[in-house]
Amino acid sequence: MPTYDYLCGNCGHKFEQFQSMTAKLLRKCPECKKMQLKRLIGAGSGVIFKGSGFYETDYRSKDYKDAQKKEKEKREKKDTKAKDETKKSKPDKKAKSTPKPNSK
Ligand SMILES: [Zn+2]
Repeated sequence: MPTYDYLCGNCGHKFEQFQSMTAKLLRKCPECKKMQLKRLIGAGSGVIFKGSGFYETDYRSKDYKDAQKKEKEKREKKDTKAKDETKKSKPDKKAKSTPKPNSK
């Protein structure tokens, strides 16, 4: 049986309640007796998210993958740049170290 977190919108009382999936939501706060309870989706009711998996795949995937792609492209660009620089720097060093013949 999953545990649900409830938070009272009136007095802020927070508590956990064991309930079956089909049980009615609680509305009445045991502290102030107002019908201000809200069920929190949290660690206690993780079953819901694990079951559907929409959090991981549907909700996040597009933005997340786009960001990852961009990051990868950035890194690849950096890599090629770095390689270019090392390629360039080698002949540069040679040219510098080799004394130019002053035959003019
Ligand atoms: Zn309350």
